[in-house]
Amino acid sequence: MQAQTETNQATNDGTENLDVYSSTQAVIKEALTQLGYDEDMYEILKEPMRVLSVRFPVRMDDGSIQVFTGYRAQHNNAIGPTKGGIRLHPDVNEDEVRALSMWMSVKCGIANLPYGGGKGGIVCDPREMSFSEIERLSRAYVRAISQIVGPTKDIPAPDVFSNSQNMAWMLDEYSHLREFDSPGFITGKPLVLGGSQGRERATARGVAICVEEAAKVKNLELKDARVVIQGFGNAGSYLAKYMSDAGARVVGISDAYGALHDPKGLDIEDLLERRDSFGTVTKLFKNTISNKELLALDCDILVPAAIENQITKENAKDVRAKIIVEAANGPTTTAATKILDDKGTLIVPDVLGNSGGVIVSYFEWVQNNQGYYWTADEVDARLQEVMRHSFHSVYDTARRYHVNMRVAAYIVGVRRMAEAARWRGWV
Ligand code: NAD
Repeated sequence: MQAQTETNQATNDGTENLDVYSSTQAVIKEALTQLGYDEDMYEILKEPMRVLSVRFPVRMDDGSIQVFTGYRAQHNNAIGPTKGGIRLHPDVNEDEVRALSMWMSVKCGIANLPYGGGKGGIVCDPREMSFSEIERLSRAYVRAISQIVGPTKDIPAPDVFSNSQNMAWMLDEYSHLREFDSPGFITGKPLVLGGSQGRERATARGVAICVEEAAKVKNLELKDARVVIQGFGNAGSYLAKYMSDAGARVVGISDAYGALHDPKGLDIEDLLERRDSFGTVTKLFKNTISNKELLALDCDILVPAAIENQITKENAKDVRAKIIVEAANGPTTTAATKILDDKGTLIVPDVLGNSGGVIVSYFEWVQNNQGYYWTADEVDARLQEVMRHSFHSVYDTARRYHVNMRVAAYIVGVRRMAEAARWRGWV
């Protein structure tokens, strides 16, 4: 396994290996070793227990039939049903869905949720499809995977390019198939169909709580702290608002087209008003900088909230932030993590940083099961409690085992899953 960790840092031709699947396996292996488990436990946890690959036809608006490919991966159900989003994106592939299901297991483990990890994906580009084509696609996907999902088996949610409307169609299709089994079949639903207060902003809220806790352990005053956020979509834009409300100065933000920088602090309210539904705002400005320059800005806190593999061995040395809180999945490579660790940068890893979304999804499922709904304040108070507890269990584990917070997060995240598998007699 040591060899695998090394290949994750550099390929034979010397370039950086950006494969999220093998890097996830490497950290799971390291966490299990720290916990004293042997190879048998790693054999169970190194891959999902079930991956369903489906091909299904969808009638397009012009009358033609297009056959789409979709996946649903269920990493491990030793703790309880599996849980995770459905991604609609042209780059979806089986390895990515597998890796993301493993990350979900770790996230659920850190937050102490009674779930294992799951993930789904459909290879498609919803930006190129009409509203009714996306509806038929969503319904067809649910019919194709209906045998293996359900409120006590595997509970989907939104992910990249899917939203509460997709969840509503999927719930409706599932309700027809299963005779109105439970709205808890899927989370991220509109409020009127059993969604939870606070779900839309939950990921950003969770990131904001991690920023607060990380600032405390680094003795950094959040008021007037300089924050840079890469990505201005669901996670990044709401986070910018939370940060400016907390008195911090958001000195840089970006989207796929460029970045804005103002050392005195950007006007976040104005940017929120002007961004479009895909999180694009920089096109409206002339004096933009590049995303590369954004990551090297002088700041106290950096939050990558866009896409994976943004901080690599090439630019890690230029990062000046004292704290990085990962809102995006996989924004920092293994080699970059090592460089930043050596510089003393505190990295709050993605499996902890962006777990607010799955935590409030869990709250939604609990409310659906009990048929009693909480206020926005109740949801927020419970989210704060779980996030702060998660942060400190990872931080304390890092100190106890003398490892970085990423490895510590995996130690906390796989511990219960491994214990449950042992009690069940699987190992
Ligand atoms: P989004 O689609 O709403 O926004 C993405 C933002 O990133 C947009 O502003 C887009 O312009 C920008 N972007 C895209 N490509 C870029 C590039 N190459 N360089 C710089 N910016 C780029 O997405 P989101 O929901 O905010 O998710 C952002 C990240 O957070 C993703 O990695 C996602 O997996 C992760 N995440 C999100 C949630 C959630 O609930 N939203 C939960 C867990 C993890």
